[in-house]
Amino acid sequence: MKKFIFGIVFMLIANVSVMAATSTATTTTNWDSAAAVQRVNTIGKKLIVANGIGQNITFKVSDQADINAYANINKEVYVYKGLLQYVTDDQELAAVISHELGHILNGHCAKQGVLNTGVNILACAAAKKVGNVAAGVGQQLVSSKMSRKDEFEADITGVDIMTKAGYNPLAMISVLNKICGNYVDILQSHPSGEKRLLNIYNYVEYNYPAKLKSGFKSDSYSKALTMLNPTIQKRKASASLTKKFEKEQKKLLVKKEKRMAKTAKTSTIWDGYYTTLQLMAQ
Ligand SMILES: [Zn+2]
Repeated sequence: MKKFIFGIVFMLIANVSVMAATSTATTTTNWDSAAAVQRVNTIGKKLIVANGIGQNITFKVSDQADINAYANINKEVYVYKGLLQYVTDDQELAAVISHELGHILNGHCAKQGVLNTGVNILACAAAKKVGNVAAGVGQQLVSSKMSRKDEFEADITGVDIMTKAGYNPLAMISVLNKICGNYVDILQSHPSGEKRLLNIYNYVEYNYPAKLKSGFKSDSYSKALTMLNPTIQKRKASASLTKKFEKEQKKLLVKKEKRMAKTAKTSTIWDGYYTTLQLMAQ
């Protein structure tokens, strides 16, 4: 068992990087942390209830000024103070929380948690060897940088989650465009967010055409549309590109169904690996 787990860790170690906590001093006035916790929990619970998510997910607010949010293997969704002060409204906040729920539901957090724990065990072992045990290294396993594929999967799952709870899915485009370059989880590994925004736009157009038609009133969404419009219009004017678009979207839905079914089965396996690694780390 140990051999197998370390095999996985070594195979994937090159692809894993633990996100460094980028905390900054927080001295902003007019900050009501109790109200923030309530706001995040109200939206989070609304999303959970509307989607019948049975997992025991908790919502927390971090009192740090970073524009950030993340989910971890313990099924906790953290929203930073900096992000709360940066989103335009609850629609955008719901988009961020839905994206993080998307990571949990797609099994990304469980997988990354296992990999990071393995990496941290190796780091601790190395530190012990030179008599320098890195304090708090275990803490780093709670957050990680997701892959591009993971981000896209969390985006479209997030779109489904928020729409089902009555939020406007276009707020996902609005918030991502707005915070591009600031949001550590969402865009750190994506210097160019344009393709990602287009992917979300296409997904909304195919699956929620009425929502797309009614639009979203925000400066950021208008700017995103201006940026994406030449590509969208080009596709609409071309029969072959339209056909390709429809084929891609159909394929995406099939893949999504398969992935969700697989995650429902394998998440317990990742949880098992995680428990074993935690015991080994002690
Ligand atoms: Zn993400």
